[in-house]
Amino acid sequence: MKNVISSVVANDLCVGCGMCVAVCPSESLKVRLGEKGTYEPFMIQDHCDETGNCLKVCPFNPFPDEELKIEEDISVKIGIQDSSYNLSKAFGRYYSLYAGYASAFREEASSGGVATWLLRELLKNKIVDYVIATIGDNSDEERFFKYTIIEDIGELDLTTKTKYYPIEVSEVLKLTELKGGKYAIIGLPCTIKAIRLAQINNPKRWGCIKFTISIFCGGLKSSFFTEYLASKVNVKHGEITTPKYRVKDIKSSASDYSFSCIKKGEQKPRSIPMKEVGDMWGTGYFKPNACDFCEDLSGELADISLGDAWIPPFSKDGRGHSIIITRTVFSNNLIEKGIDIGELSCKQISSKQVFKSQEGNYNHRRIGLSYRLKWASEKAHIVPPKRTKRVFFENPLKSRIFGLRQKIQNESTQYWLEERNNGGMGFEKKIYGTKKKLLLYTRIEHLFRKKYWLRKLKIRS
Ligand SMILES: Cc1cc2nc3c(=O)[nH]c(=O)nc-3n(C[C@H](O)[C@H](O)[C@H](O)COP(=O)(O)OP(=O)(O)OC[C@H]3O[C@@H](n4cnc5c(N)ncnc54)[C@H](O)[C@@H]3O)c2cc1C
Ligand code: SF4
Ligand code: SF4
Repeated sequence: MKNVISSVVANDLCVGCGMCVAVCPSESLKVRLGEKGTYEPFMIQDHCDETGNCLKVCPFNPFPDEELKIEEDISVKIGIQDSSYNLSKAFGRYYSLYAGYASAFREEASSGGVATWLLRELLKNKIVDYVIATIGDNSDEERFFKYTIIEDIGELDLTTKTKYYPIEVSEVLKLTELKGGKYAIIGLPCTIKAIRLAQINNPKRWGCIKFTISIFCGGLKSSFFTEYLASKVNVKHGEITTPKYRVKDIKSSASDYSFSCIKKGEQKPRSIPMKEVGDMWGTGYFKPNACDFCEDLSGELADISLGDAWIPPFSKDGRGHSIIITRTVFSNNLIEKGIDIGELSCKQISSKQVFKSQEGNYNHRRIGLSYRLKWASEKAHIVPPKRTKRVFFENPLKSRIFGLRQKIQNESTQYWLEERNNGGMGFEKKIYGTKKKLLLYTRIEHLFRKKYWLRKLKIRS
C-alpha cells in the first residue's frame, strides 16, 4: 500500500502541512522540522494499518482518485459552490470580490486586518466555538510559531500578522477530537486543501470544521528564511526571538515593510527594510520544491480567501488593504454585514484587479508550472496531476528564468546549511553568480515584454 513517505516525501513533494499525521489512525506518523528547514512526516513504528488514509488527505498526493484530481473537482465534491458561481481561471470559483480593511485590526495586521475581524465575527456570533489560528511560540528554540485553538476573543490579538515560517496542523487538529465543538481554521491554500480532502475522506470526524479561511500564498519559506533575515541584523540562529515579517511603515507604501527580531538577552528589536534585503519572492529563496507544483495561489477551496491588495490605489497606503474573495453566500453575507455596520471599509473590485494584484505570483505558478511539468516528465519525476498543461514550445528566455529560479531554490538551502554557523558570511558570495544571471535574464525578458506592448500600441494607433 502506498503512503505519504514513499509517494510524497520520497518524491520531494511534501510541503509539511502535517495533515497526514493528524489523520493517521495507527499513530505511526510524526512530523519534525527536517534538514531543509521545513516540516516532514516520518514513520515512528512499524504498525502502519496500510489504509492509505495519509495519502488520501495529502494535497500533493501524486495518485488521487479521478474525481479529486484538481481544485475545481474537489470544490464540486464538497459542494460549497456550484456552476452558477463566477469562475476565474486564476483564482477559482467565487461569489464576490472586494478590497478593504477592518479599522479595529488594521494597525496590528499584515494587510487590512480582515482575517482577524472575520475570526472575531465567527466567535462573537457563535458560528463556531473555537478558531484555529497561528501564534508565536517561545517554548522551543527551533519553532517560532504554532497553531493554537482560541475560544476567547481577547486572545485573537496574539494571532495577527503573516508568519513566513513553516507551521503544521497535526498537533492542534488532534486536540479537536478531545475538545469537541465547532471550529473555524485559517491557513495556506495547501492546508485548506488537506482539510477538504480529510472532510471528504472522513466527514464524521472532520465535519467539526465549519468554516475555512485561506490566505493567498506566494510560496512557503523554510525556517532558513528567518535565519537569513536575522543574519542581516547580525543575529545568529539560536539567538533569534520574536521574528516579525511585516512591520509596516504607515507613511510609505504597502509593500515597504520591514523584518524585525529581538536578539536573545536584548530588549529592543533590530529591524531591516525588506527592500534592502532584495527580492525574496521572485527568486524563490528558501522555498520547498512542493510549492513549485502548486497552482492554487488563493485558496480556492476555502469559504473565503484573503490577500494583500498590491494594486493602486490601495498599494499606496502603508496601513494596508486586504483583497477579499468570498466563495459562498454565507461568507459574503458576513462581509456585507461588516460593511453595513461600518466595521469594514470595502469596495467591490473586478477579477482583473485581483489578478493584477498577484500577477507575478500567477505567472510563476501557471506559466512557470507548464515548464516545470515538461522538465519533470522528461526526467520521469513523479508529480501530482495539474490543470496546467505542459508547455509545448519552450521560450528560451522564460525557460532560462524558470530554470534559474529552481536553481536558486536549491542553492539557497544548500549554501545556507553550509554557512549558517558562520552567521551566513559566505552565503551571498556563493549565490551571487546564479542571482546575477537571474536578474539579467529577467531584465531582458521585461525589455522584450515592454517592446512587444509598445509595438502592439503602435499598430493600434
Ligand atoms: C507563506 C505566506 C505567503 C503569502 N503570500 C502571499 C501572496 O503571495 N500574496 C498575497 O496577497 N498574500 C500573501 N500572503 C498573505 C498575506 O500576507 C496576509 O497574511 C493576508 O492577506 C491576511 O492579512 P490580514 O491583514 O487580513 O491578516 P491579519 O489580520 O494580520 O491576520 C493574519 C492571519 O493569518 C494567519 N497566518 C499568518 N501566517 C500564517 C501561516 N504561515 N500559516 C497559517 N496561517 C497564518 C494568522 O493566524 C492570522 O489569523 C502570504 C502569507 C503567508 C503566510
Ligand atoms: S504535504 Fe502534508 S499531508 Fe502531504 S506528506 Fe507532507 S505533511 Fe503529509
Ligand atoms: S505555494 Fe502552495 S504548496 Fe506552497 S505553501 Fe503556498 S499553498 Fe502551500
